[in-house]
Amino acid sequence: MCIFVATLSAEGGSARGGKFLCFDLENPMKSIREELVQCSAKIAKALMPASGGSLSAREGDMIWMQPQDLAMDEIGPDDLCGLDLKTGTQKAGKNKPALESNMHLAVYRVRTDVKAVFHTHSAWVTGVISAGKKFKPMFAEFVNDLGRSGSVPYFPPTSPAMEKCMEKCAKNHDTIFMINHGMLAVGVNLKQALYRCVVAEDAAKSLFAASIAGKPLFLNQQRVNKILSLDAVKHRTKMMEKK
Ligand SMILES: [Zn+2]
Repeated sequence: MCIFVATLSAEGGSARGGKFLCFDLENPMKSIREELVQCSAKIAKALMPASGGSLSAREGDMIWMQPQDLAMDEIGPDDLCGLDLKTGTQKAGKNKPALESNMHLAVYRVRTDVKAVFHTHSAWVTGVISAGKKFKPMFAEFVNDLGRSGSVPYFPPTSPAMEKCMEKCAKNHDTIFMINHGMLAVGVNLKQALYRCVVAEDAAKSLFAASIAGKPLFLNQQRVNKILSLDAVKHRTKMMEKK
């Protein structure tokens, strides 16, 4: 079973059009660690050539966390760190977990419905949100894919204050824009979190372009509701949330 999703290409691909590839959604042989490594490489290529940010996935009571000292495109399944969800104790892996692991754990603890937490330092999102711009729906995928979006003020990375703020915000948001830092997206599976990161970057580019070209025209609530009622949109959501 396959679903068409956008190629996450640094050479012009986006989540909204252009080239497409086929994602294998029902490969029973693929472990969640392999899937996490695959997402990590895609994000490194599409959004963040340099190191930064951190990705994780939940497998039962274990959180598989990106290691601290490896870039996203350097990770293999055996490099991941297995953390106990309740205690944060490392149960598997020889590497040290990413510095922002506590933020991931805090989000999982308040969102029992999510299986993936992806945190990026992507350039467009960080730039636009740090310029004081407000992200609002401008195109259909924003409405359909990002879920409930919101923003948080700046806190020093890895600080308890940042963890507390993200924990609170994640209770009722799926995509969180972090001023002077980046963004965080949750997903009921890894591909949903991945998609949210890529669509958010598209939203930042569109907002920047619209602001340069003129005054951004956002979708009003009536148009948002119409998009959400479309059969094609409902189908897309169902496929994206398919386990
Ligand atoms: Zn960060």
